Order: sequence, then C-alpha cells, then structure tokens
Amino acid sequence: MSSAPVAPRWDGGQTIFVDGSWIGGAATYERFDPSDTSRSTGRYAAATPEDVGRAYDAASAAQPSWAARTAVERGEVLTAAAEVLARDLERAARRLTADIGKPIRDARGEVLRAVATLRYYAGELLQPSGQNYPSAAADTMLMTVEQPLGIICAITPWNFPAAIPIFKLAPAIGFGNAVVWKPAEAASGSAVLLAEAFEQAGLPAGVLNLVTGRGSELSAALMGDQRLRGVTFTGSNAVGASIRQAVADRNVRVQLEMGGKNPAIVLRDADLRDAANQVTRAAMIAAGQRCTATSRVYVDRPVAEEFLAYLREAVESLVVGDPFDETTDVGPLASDAQAATVGEYLEIAAREHATIVAGDGAAPIGCFVRPTVLANVDPDSRLVREEIFGPVLVVEEVDGLDAALERANSSEYGLASAVFTRDLGAALEFVRRTESGLVCVNRETTGIESHVPFGGMKASSSLSRELGKAARDFFTVSKTVYMRVPPAGG
Ligand code: NAD
Repeated sequence: MSSAPVAPRWDGGQTIFVDGSWIGGAATYERFDPSDTSRSTGRYAAATPEDVGRAYDAASAAQPSWAARTAVERGEVLTAAAEVLARDLERAARRLTADIGKPIRDARGEVLRAVATLRYYAGELLQPSGQNYPSAAADTMLMTVEQPLGIICAITPWNFPAAIPIFKLAPAIGFGNAVVWKPAEAASGSAVLLAEAFEQAGLPAGVLNLVTGRGSELSAALMGDQRLRGVTFTGSNAVGASIRQAVADRNVRVQLEMGGKNPAIVLRDADLRDAANQVTRAAMIAAGQRCTATSRVYVDRPVAEEFLAYLREAVESLVVGDPFDETTDVGPLASDAQAATVGEYLEIAAREHATIVAGDGAAPIGCFVRPTVLANVDPDSRLVREEIFGPVLVVEEVDGLDAALERANSSEYGLASAVFTRDLGAALEFVRRTESGLVCVNRETTGIESHVPFGGMKASSSLSRELGKAARDFFTVSKTVYMRVPPAGG
C-alpha cells in the first residue's frame, strides 16, 4: 500500500483522478464550512467534458484486465481499501463533518459503515456465481456464467459522502467493472479521500476514475459516452428523471435511488415514549437530510396528545450546535442553498398558520435550523407532499390503522415507512399494505445494513435494488452456455 499525500489534494485543486493520476481542472470551485460559511474547506478542480472523456478512455483501457483478475484478487483490493479507511477513520470522519456539517459521531459511524460494506463485498464476491441446469441433450452441459457489465457511471449525492459512494463503488469494482464517478460538489473532499483509499489499496490505474465538478455541466459527457453500460445514481427525482431520459434510447442499465417523504404511524397501543424517541431520531438526526428520514407522522387520535408531549420532550432535548463537538446531535444544514430551501418551507408553515409543537419556526441562522414539529397542517400543503430534506416533521391525527395507511400511502414517494404498535396483526397488515421499499416495525425509518437489498417503490426508485446480493444482478450480466461434448474418437 502507498501512503497518503502530505498535503490534502484540495489545497491545490488537484482533485480529478484519471488513469491513476491526480490532476487539476481548467477551473476550480471552492467549498465552505456549513457551520461557518466564511471558512473555506477546500478548492476543487471543476472537470470539463474533455476530462470526462479521458476518464472513459482510462476506464475502457483498464476494465478488461481488471475483469480478468480472479474474484479473490479483486476482493483483496476491497479489503485493503477497507483497511486504509479504518486506519484513517478519524481523518475521514472529520472530512465528512467539514464537507457537510454531519456531527462527528454520525460521521464516524458512516465511515465505519463504508468499511463494513467494502469487507462485505470482498466476501460476497466469493459466493456462488452462475447456475447449472439439466439439458434436454445428453451430451450438453447447460449453465449460466456471470461477467461484469463493463463501464459504469456512478453519480452520488452529498448527504452520505462516504457510505453511498461505497454502496456503489465496492460492488461495481468488486464484480470486475471500471467506474467513472461524479460525486456531489458538497462532498468533494470526502470523495477525494475515498479515491485515495482505493489508490493506496493497489487498485490498478483506470479502474476508478473520479471527476469532481458540476453535474449539470458534465451531464452530457457522462451520459452521452457510447462506452457506458450502466448508470448507478442516488439523488433527487428531477436529476434522476433527466438521467433516465438521457440514456432512454440506448441499452444502458439504470439504477436510480431518489427522494422520500417517509411516514410513521403511531397506533393507540404503541409504547408512546419509545415511539417518540424513535421518530425523533429518524426525523432530526443529520438535520433531517437522510432520504429515509421520517417526515410525516400519523398518530391515532386517542393517544395524540400524550404522544405529542413525548415527541416535544424528545425533540427539544436534542443538542444543536457545532458538528465537531462530541455532544452534538444536530449540526447545520449542509449548505447555504439547503438552508434557504428549508427556510422557504418554514415560511410556508407560518403563512399556513401551522401549529408549532416543537422548535420556534424561525428562519435559519446561517445554516442552522431548530428541529421543528408542526401540527394542524392541510394534507394538501407542500409541507406534507414535498421532500423538505431538513429537520421538519409534520404530525397529523387519524382514526386507526386503515385511515393512517390511506394517508401514509397518499404520497408519490415510497422509500421508507414505519408503524409503532404492540398488535402483531396490525403490524403484519402494515407490512402488507404499506407502499414503501423499506418497512420498519417499532423502529425508526433510518439506518440500513449493507448485506440486504435497499431501494424504494413508486417515484422513489427505478425499482432496481442496491446492496446485498441485488448488487450482483445490477453490476453483472449473465451468459447462457450450451457446452456440447463431442463423442469420444468421433
Ligand atoms: P441531486 O440530484 O441534486 O445531486 C445528486 C448528484 O447528481 C450530484 O452528484 C450532482 O452533482 C449530480 N447531478 C446534478 N445534476 C445532474 C445532471 N443534470 N446530470 C447528471 N448528474 C447531475 O441530489 P442531492 O441534493 O445531492 O441529494 C439529495 C437528494 O438525494 C434527496 O432528494 C434525497 O432524498 C436523495 N437521496 C436518496 C437516497 C436513496 O437511497 N433513495 C439516498 C440519499 C439521498
């Protein structure tokens, strides 16, 4: 393993990694600390379409020999990358916090999730691959074999700067593909550290290529390259739709994981204090900037008052402040732009005279917003229909499970949902009827494990699944082999 550079790449803007070399761009962009936006956190190379072309050249040149390595060898590189990240845990976690203001405890947890995912895929590569079938012909062996899809474009959001890229890069690289990766601008520093981890792990030049820069400016080059075989994207619905359209008339495999407006149902027999604590974590940790964050609660009318009291207590006990402080639960929003968006939703709440159950409904100060719980909101309000991506939760009273499910399922999104109840029958009914890809019973909607499939329903996803064994299906393609053995001596 080679060692990390002395000065961080973002000091000099050398943040494009193509064919094993770190290079600068024609221009740079600067990022700022969300907890004090006057403080620069780095200067990054803005890749051009020509840089993207070079990244595809490098990926195409490197992929065949990478695919020819054994699964054991490819797994060893994933394990080595996990070791680099685990060794540099503190540095990586602090970079996540500097990039997007994620509280340091959560940032450490996220880097450890990335490490675990790399280790998981190192093992998953050794699981059975392809199948044998009986043939109608006695002299024929009939089987399927898997091979890598080829050249993959990975496009990732800022809210999980380490975990989501690794959810994609570990299986894409592990199964023998080469990757052109475009991370979100806000997560550029974290992306550089991840690419360095693969470099230090001994990944051959060109297998992973990182292009930092603006998605809208690079879109045509990223999606238009004829060598592209698969796009794995996590981000907003608007960008997901544009990616789908950009490759619609070509045979490119597409995986889109997008937004959510995730409901939790609290029934009258639930442990109300526990439910309030779980919902609070799901809604407010990471300042609500998780695709699986709970943002709507439907509470059974007879217990609504008691539940709201517990919820207020739990939300108001959260420590809001400096994300580098070990005691902080909720840091700033990730950027000025994100704070402005959440501020607009708080203005809507004021205009529509929503009841403020917790928080103060005040405009963001810098990138900080107090965790806010709203009640008495019109079901057609944008506050109920749209993904806010901030620490804002809307609570509505309902009468029983049927009414709650109807309200919960009324969203265009279908990523995650939860029910809180001690009634096994109600829990099973919920599992059957809820319209979401991630279903939680007596548990927060957030927090996922890497060895099981993940993905949404309805507008939240292309319905392909990532993680677990599902990643094998996405990142490989099968061939059906009829192998006839000619008669001996014929
Ligand atoms: P975004 O869609 O704005 O950006 C995502 C990525 O797409 C970034 O790298 C961006 O640079 C790039 N991009 C932007 N325009 C592009 C274009 N025209 N062509 C190609 N790429 C382009 O999303 P975001 O603000 O980074 O992330 C927040 C969103 O991500 C939320 O909607 C959230 O729900 C969603 N999200 C979903 C999941 C999930 O697993 N379902 C997980 C995390 C985040």
